[in-house]
Amino acid sequence: MKTKIAFGVLSSLLLLPTMLFADIVYQGKRVQEWPEEARPTFNNQSAGKPSFLLARTPVTQNKSHYAAPKGKIYSLTLLVDFSDQKAPVSVADVEEWLNKEGFNRDGCNGSVRDYYLDVSNGQLDLTNEVFGWYRAKHPKSWYESLQGYTGSDSLMKEVFAYFDSQVDYSRYDNDKDGTTEAINIVYAGPGQTWGQGLWPHSGWSNERRDGVRLTHHQMTDMPGKFSIYVFVHESGHMIFGWPDLYWYGDYCTMGNRANDLNPVAINDFYRADQGWIPFVDVTSNDVSLETTKPGEVCYRYKNPARPDNEGLVWSYVRNTGRNKVLKGSGLLMQHYDFSIGANSSADKLGLRIVHANAAGKSNDNVADQWPSPGSAANAFFSYSAYPEFSDDKYPAIRWYNGSKTGLKITDIGTPGETITFCIGGNCPAQESSSSTGIAFSSSSAPAVSSSSSSSSVTPPKSSSSSVQITVQKIALETTLPISDNYAPVTLDLNGSDVAKILGIKQNEIANKVKFYGVEPDGSLNSNTTGEGTGHWFDKDGKIVAWDPNGTSIVFSNMDLTTMTTKIGHMPNKVKAGDSFVVRQAVVYESKQVTFEITVKIEQKTTRISNIRSSKRGKPGNMIFNALGKPVGKRTESGEMPDLPKGIYVEMVK
Ligand SMILES: [Zn+2]
Repeated sequence: MKTKIAFGVLSSLLLLPTMLFADIVYQGKRVQEWPEEARPTFNNQSAGKPSFLLARTPVTQNKSHYAAPKGKIYSLTLLVDFSDQKAPVSVADVEEWLNKEGFNRDGCNGSVRDYYLDVSNGQLDLTNEVFGWYRAKHPKSWYESLQGYTGSDSLMKEVFAYFDSQVDYSRYDNDKDGTTEAINIVYAGPGQTWGQGLWPHSGWSNERRDGVRLTHHQMTDMPGKFSIYVFVHESGHMIFGWPDLYWYGDYCTMGNRANDLNPVAINDFYRADQGWIPFVDVTSNDVSLETTKPGEVCYRYKNPARPDNEGLVWSYVRNTGRNKVLKGSGLLMQHYDFSIGANSSADKLGLRIVHANAAGKSNDNVADQWPSPGSAANAFFSYSAYPEFSDDKYPAIRWYNGSKTGLKITDIGTPGETITFCIGGNCPAQESSSSTGIAFSSSSAPAVSSSSSSSSVTPPKSSSSSVQITVQKIALETTLPISDNYAPVTLDLNGSDVAKILGIKQNEIANKVKFYGVEPDGSLNSNTTGEGTGHWFDKDGKIVAWDPNGTSIVFSNMDLTTMTTKIGHMPNKVKAGDSFVVRQAVVYESKQVTFEITVKIEQKTTRISNIRSSKRGKPGNMIFNALGKPVGKRTESGEMPDLPKGIYVEMVK
């Protein structure tokens, strides 16, 4: 019965094209999740690490439920247009759309690469290599008119065959397990009919080229206006194997199509499954007072009877940045059961939101769940409306076998930079919650990359000093190429967040705040040793004067008007792999924002996409393949070594 209701909803959905899902298509049929034999896998053991190309070194490998690639992943994008629908943008435009840092055309919040760098905490660097445009044999209308997805399959075969002379497909088998991870076909013009023709989807093929199987691909439309939702969503199916989250809402990009330009983040459960953020495991014996930042960790409470399959997970979700489209903030609780294939019917979901305002899973109105639940403020647990989760309060929320969960969360606080809550229902009195004079509420929660993530973070006690200052830390990270002339990189300091914390407008920052360098022990230093509002630091982050023969090594010159900073280094003092942490702060009245900037020194590299046009170079420069493996050196006369077609990276000696 439930299913019938659901399909009623589904057909009315056809009238709302912007809400439509892009599908997974396997052997010509729409499926909600890849069947077992077709699931993407990733062999993390043989991936191209350690390599200077990796944005970050992978943290401790965890056993992920879904494919979990890490580091730099090369993805192939093939462009195709038609006699009745010509290429609306150039190859360079597409390269920017997919890869360029800070891409913002037509209002996009970054490129596809930016999106995955953000949601993965910098652990997945999805880089697309673009070839095209190929003119298809038939007009677009021909492919669109064929039944089901046969038009797509036909186009896919054509495109793969055409590009074989230019592309080495084996390059996109990043983990060298015999199958490629990511091949994208982007076609000119808009998607037309849901479930037919070239409608965007993640697909499957039996093609084999250049010694590898091209199993998974995805097809995305390019109507001429840029947006990143479809590409990001289809990559979710194709690379990780995540299912479509029907009956779920806007709370994940694998759920509803909430926003095309600024698609919502991947939900924190999937993020933790990838190892992008740590899980913090909680049992029914635990009692603790927690403080957590948005998207920082995922709390997990496993069903003791089925620990490998079922559990409740929750995290602090705040409607800013990638989650801006969400209508509320607070603890968002989810119930997962890996034994359920995807989200195929409304009352049995592989992953569902436990709505804070709902009586329980079966009592959630189907219409509130899909297709247009969007998101709601009262889905979140928070102080104002739903400060507690327990079996008593939520009698209908049970494990799927009907038994009580035993989980108790109380004293859920107000969403701010952090949120607090009590696990186990018997927390020690919260000193800071009732007192207005928080002497030193440091929000320096454990760094996300530290997998130890202490599960109980209490604010340090007040010192006897009467100065009441609240310190918020903003952790930033940048790579800095080696330079012999102080060439800086520019880093965004999140001006709007800073303004919010200080309680002033962003354009008031430059006039109102005091600016400091912060010594490693946290003390403020009002001397500026860099340019303008800038500092030089030594290798330990101590503020020092500029001195090419001294200890000064890294500078950060802030611009309070644009809220950016230029980071650079002293020539001849750094080597690839060096890492430094420097700190600067702005203070307004009783509020301080400390920027903690991790600077990672990177070897200068050049990307070579066409061997013939890069004939000359510095003799002896090392040449690496896409996985960061050395494949040769430039000869004494500066020529490239003899290599097959493809993309390489040259490391400047
Ligand atoms: Zn989908």
